[in-house]
Amino acid sequence: MHRKYAVEREKRLRSDGIRQWRALDGIVASADTDPFTAVMPRETVHDHVEFLFIGGGFAGLTICARLKEAGFDDFRILEAGGDFGGVWYWNRFPGAMCDTAAMVYLPLLEETGHMPSAKYVHGPEILAHAQRIGRHYDLYPHALFSTHLESLTWDESASRWIVRTREGDKFTATTVAMGTGPLNRPHLPGIPGIETYQGEAFHTARWDFNVTGGDWDGGVMTRLADKRVGIIGTGATAVQCIPQLGRDSGELFVFQRTPSAVDVRGNHPIDPQWYAALEPGWQAKWLRNFVQLQATGLAEEDLVHDGWTDGAKRIVARMLASDKPPAELTHADFMAAYHDSDDEQMTRIRARVDEIVEDPQTAQQLKAWYRQYCKRPCFHDDYLPTYNRPNVHLVDTDGRGVERIDETGVWVDGVHYELDVIVYASGFEFNSEYTFKSGLEVYGRDGRTLTETWAEGMQTFQGMHIHGFPNLFIIGHAQGSALLSNITSNYTDQGFTIAAILGHLRASGARTVEASAAAQAAWVESVLTVPKGIVGGPDCTPGYYNNEGQHEGRRERLNSGRFPGGSLAFFDYVADWRTNGRFEGLEFDGAAVPPSG
Ligand code: NDP
Repeated sequence: MHRKYAVEREKRLRSDGIRQWRALDGIVASADTDPFTAVMPRETVHDHVEFLFIGGGFAGLTICARLKEAGFDDFRILEAGGDFGGVWYWNRFPGAMCDTAAMVYLPLLEETGHMPSAKYVHGPEILAHAQRIGRHYDLYPHALFSTHLESLTWDESASRWIVRTREGDKFTATTVAMGTGPLNRPHLPGIPGIETYQGEAFHTARWDFNVTGGDWDGGVMTRLADKRVGIIGTGATAVQCIPQLGRDSGELFVFQRTPSAVDVRGNHPIDPQWYAALEPGWQAKWLRNFVQLQATGLAEEDLVHDGWTDGAKRIVARMLASDKPPAELTHADFMAAYHDSDDEQMTRIRARVDEIVEDPQTAQQLKAWYRQYCKRPCFHDDYLPTYNRPNVHLVDTDGRGVERIDETGVWVDGVHYELDVIVYASGFEFNSEYTFKSGLEVYGRDGRTLTETWAEGMQTFQGMHIHGFPNLFIIGHAQGSALLSNITSNYTDQGFTIAAILGHLRASGARTVEASAAAQAAWVESVLTVPKGIVGGPDCTPGYYNNEGQHEGRRERLNSGRFPGGSLAFFDYVADWRTNGRFEGLEFDGAAVPPSG
């Protein structure tokens, strides 16, 4: 089995690594076009705000909600889309749903009084929740939608940021936070001839319902009924939309480079009576329980009970079953337990393919030969049965990918597949240059750009503060809690941090806050001490989790680094850090907060 893992990985290694991708422009609708909201003309803005948030997804929503709770009102949210929602605004592919349980993924459930309809919920419900947060906290008047940040420039003399947008706005902000998401710029595979295709084509992050018919709610895509449709890519997105494309397309051709590992979904509705009986404060308790189980594999109960917590419990059970006393267990013991538990898990997931897919050759081609956390684990109950439909054809490329594209279709292994529509389920920029990934530039002290500053990898204190970029906060997961299994949890916590720092700025009258050079250098070094965990890994099949299988140097390790103690320890550390009043590592007007606070 492990030999086969190595052989399959070898087939997929490419010398161009992360340079294999290209931008959407000139091939399909650009990432900057908004197919969902007509852009309304408005006056340009030329004023000053105390705080600006870049991005109207769950990061911006949760952080601005916390600011409202803390009594701040002079802020603005800048968002490229026509409404709140971020990733859930843009990714309207049919079947889109969140793989993380709604009880922990959807932020501010208690505050907004919303009960998720099911354990795992679909995109439209998630987008509606984003909008609900916007209404509940009265954030709409603060938003500038359909607006693209062009640059942020630090004005040293005025101690504020100058904000320019592509729409012609130019205003200033005392403080700025950026929450543009880890995967926000869709990209295409650099397949030869991709620009020559004459049929209809779009990326899943800009789904074109004019071409397909139907809607995001699962309405039948009637315009595909007599069409030959191709989908390129079989990652987490494709796994969710292929069942619906299979249902509605005349013929569907799935072009696969690497199969996803698809486990049982096991969704179920939430019982309103059970939900109503939850004690106040339940969501914080669930969030902590979810993180604790993944960090330690141990907790009195498993409230979320999903693939993430199950996996952690299995690994820890194996470690505890070893002869060594728990105190002597090392990272190597952890990795060995993970490998054993993963062998068992992946063997079961591959057997599941044989149980469901009727054609033996198709079943064989749908099996994933790598460890589960080499790629985003998938969970779906309708994906594999779709391959039993007579109109659905798996075109496996044996790890090589689509050979080329011409005016009328796709070539694989010398065979031409004529297509009316191509859907690119080809993912997003990751690890690429900052300006390319975000589409904007940030100019800090002395005009130094963030692209230059991070050319050799992310440099931060706590993943949030950057020396040389005063009054700027990065909202994300890298170099902090790095809780990938529940991205919104990182943001909910960071909301408290931002509110505490802005509160201190106000109370102290300081004009600037910035990470000290020493604190940042120490933080960066501590991030580098963290051994590679179970996500990605040098012997994994290539993907964005492991720099497409290429050597992961200092730059890549910094870009995906985390706090040495893990997510739970980070949340505990930062909760104490922001409440003890000292903000160690930050300087306000160039000086540390005195010990008295
Ligand atoms: P991915 O980057 O995961 O998938 C891109 C796909 O395109 C891969 O299957 C890739 O193959 C394939 N591909 C690339 N080049 C070629 C080629 N030349 N020929 C054929 N196939 C090719 O993007 P997704 O949009 O699927 O997912 C991105 C992320 O979004 C996920 O990892 C996850 O974090 C998030 N997501 C989360 C969901 C959730 O429930 N929370 C749902 C959907 C997405 P290969 O594998 O060989 O590189």
